[in-house]
Amino acid sequence: MRPETKAELINIGKVDIDISLLGRLTIPTAGPGAGKSAFFFRSGGHRVRLTVDGTSPLHAVGENGDIVIMKDGEELVRGQIEDELIHCPEQAYVNMTEKCIFDCKFCPVPKLDGKIKSIEEVLEMIDKAHRTGTMKAISITSGVAETPEIEVDRAVEVVRSARRYGVPIGVCVYPTPDSTRRLKDAGADEIKYNVETMDRAIYQRSCVGQDLDMILHSLKEAVDIFGHNRVCSNFIIGLGETDDSVEKGIRELVSLGVVPILRPASMHPLRQGEVVIERPTPERILKLTHILRKILDQNGLHADSFRTMCLPCTGCDLNPHSDLDEYNEQ
Ligand code: SF4
Repeated sequence: MRPETKAELINIGKVDIDISLLGRLTIPTAGPGAGKSAFFFRSGGHRVRLTVDGTSPLHAVGENGDIVIMKDGEELVRGQIEDELIHCPEQAYVNMTEKCIFDCKFCPVPKLDGKIKSIEEVLEMIDKAHRTGTMKAISITSGVAETPEIEVDRAVEVVRSARRYGVPIGVCVYPTPDSTRRLKDAGADEIKYNVETMDRAIYQRSCVGQDLDMILHSLKEAVDIFGHNRVCSNFIIGLGETDDSVEKGIRELVSLGVVPILRPASMHPLRQGEVVIERPTPERILKLTHILRKILDQNGLHADSFRTMCLPCTGCDLNPHSDLDEYNEQ
């Protein structure tokens, strides 16, 4: 799958497909895609996550064991469906807390008011994933049900118990003053603290009640404790920011040793009217990913060296290394 094709699939994000062609459907419980049925499509070593939607301009059919995605009656790309393990292929990626006291305007989780899993339930899910023999990593995330401190306590406990599986463990939580040190001591290998946007004005109106400077400080400390190529951060594209502000934000994060994940924004029906989302065009996704690639390369950071969470999954984003690799000359 060429980067241009993947960027187009990411931009459209949905496919009209007969669900009998799919394996297990994934319904994410975290982040902007929460609550929508989706599947993973793999072609030529590249992966994309697509939601199932009968109104999509893309139509997928089965042909000789392949899935063929068509646009305007023409074949766009051909590949296979990949089964998720928990939330995504090859990882036990568990959202411990499907609710949130924060109110990020692009995120449906606070409105979904989902379940809080007990530590035992989370560990049982991981153990079941381990028993399949296909679990390559464990990733833990969480909304904030009461306080960030309680979620960090829970993540620490899960990481301590999950170390016994001997696979890399990544954690994405809202940071607290001692979360980085405690998660490292518990046995976590990689950390993600999300900035969401680096445009301060957009941050103020989109991430009400959160503190970007504190998150940046935590990211810097995370790089000091976990090392380079172990710390990443979601950076949403499509909240009204300019390309120049994205580049400036990438440079700021990379200067701290953080690998930004450029995540195309999507509008969730539960957030209609609360936020302006401009889903980035394929051209914009490609342009910004090339800029990201250049800045990472200049600073010795590698988006393809991570082993947990979104960077190895690549379902929702164009990975600046593993998805552009054969196309460096662009
Ligand atoms: S890229 Fe991240 S959010 Fe998207 S499916 Fe993969 S693990 Fe989930």
